[in-house]
Formats: sequence, structure tokens, C-alpha cells
Amino acid sequence: METNKTFTMIKPDAVAAGHIGAILDKITKNGFKIIALKYTSLSTDKAGQFYAVHSERPFYKNLVAFMSSGPIVAAILEKDNAVEDFRKLIGATDPSKADMGTIRNLFAKSIEANAVHGSDSDENAQIEGSFFFSAFEKF
Ligand code: ATP
Ligand code: MG
Repeated sequence: METNKTFTMIKPDAVAAGHIGAILDKITKNGFKIIALKYTSLSTDKAGQFYAVHSERPFYKNLVAFMSSGPIVAAILEKDNAVEDFRKLIGATDPSKADMGTIRNLFAKSIEANAVHGSDSDENAQIEGSFFFSAFEKF
């Protein structure tokens, strides 16, 4: 299992607020190399599939509606210890608890509209990256 890749999305709130450039800048300045990148959107079906692990949670329906409410940016990132280091860079799920200077501290609006997604394991990084990108779209 690769330990040097993670997957991220810039969520609809941050795209709508015009933060794509600032977030990508923060990501690359922190040593992550972008090896795949796409501006796209999720249908409710696709958003439901992506967050299927949360299907029993009370916030699932709202989460799916939010994630399909507007365009997103999907990317695969490469760096040593990528999954853990990226979770540190984005900060806590709830932006009011995210450390100063983290992406969620700087750009997130709420626990739901929290600006970015970051994979939580090497295995999920691989699954999530393949959900958005074919082998011909990774460089
Ligand atoms: P992500 O998987 O998007 O990187 P995360 O790993 O920090 O976020 P998860 O527990 O996986 O957090 O939750 C997935 C997403 O569901 C969160 O990022 C947020 O958008 C939403 N979410 C989580 N908890 C809540 C909640 N209590 N109320 C509303 N939305 C929530
Ligand atoms: Mg998660």
C-alpha cells in the first residue's frame, strides 16, 4: 500500500467563496505535489456513493445535498506520509476546533461546509483517487 498519496476535494462552499487558488497555493507550499486535478461536480448519486460510510449518520442526507450543491475540485496529492500530514494541514472537522493556520481554520464556514476533504487512510486515499481519476489522468 502506498503511503505517499492522499486524495482531497475542495468542497462547494470553498469553491463558491472563491478559495480554489488560495487553497491550492497552501497545499503546494506545504510540500504536496499535485499529481491529478479536476474541476467537476458530484451528482447526488455520486456524492452518496462517495460518503457511503456515513450513510447511517444523522447528517448524511444534508451532507449529500451539500456536496452535490455546486462544483468541487478533486485532486490526488503526493508527499511522504501524505494522509497524516494532509489531515494536519486541513485541521479538525469542526472549523471552530481547527488549529490556527489550518485550511479549515482559514476557509471553512461550519462543521458541514468545511472547505476541504482529506482521506483518512492509505486504503481510502487509493479508493477515493480512483473514484475520480483514471490511470491516464495521474502524472
Ligand atoms: P472529510 O471526510 O470530508 O475529510 P472528516 O474526515 O474530517 O471530513 P468525517 O467524520 O469523515 O470528517 O465526516 C465527513 C463530512 O461530513 C465532514 O467533513 C462534514 O462535511 C460532514 N460532517 C461530519 N460531522 C458532521 C456533523 N456533526 N454535522 C454535519 N455535518 C457533519
Ligand atoms: Mg472523513
